[in-house]
Amino acid sequence: MNKRNRVKVAIWLERADYGVDPPCPRCDVCGELTPEPDMHAFLIRRGHVPKRKQGCIWHKFNCVLLCRTCHEQADGMDDYFRDLQIMRYGAEAIVEWLNSLPLKVEVRL
Ligand SMILES: [Zn+2]
Repeated sequence: MNKRNRVKVAIWLERADYGVDPPCPRCDVCGELTPEPDMHAFLIRRGHVPKRKQGCIWHKFNCVLLCRTCHEQADGMDDYFRDLQIMRYGAEAIVEWLNSLPLKVEVRL
């Protein structure tokens, strides 16, 4: 399994709603149960890191899970995703992660 898929499985398990049977993640935008979500990287994109380091965009701090419909409309929602991830993980942890990356451009949380 490649890194992208490993991270996706880990996020799926971490964020699944275990109050439903079977457990299932919910779309980060509309909240619908989404057994096969799309993973959307929003903060760090491929162009922000050197080519050989692009695997680092697949990190739970950088990724939200979306249903197909919401993924198609995800452009322009970065502020919403950022606030959601800060609520989930805390700004400090995310900034620490950002500072550990070989960024080609400055990225602010
Ligand atoms: Zn949705």
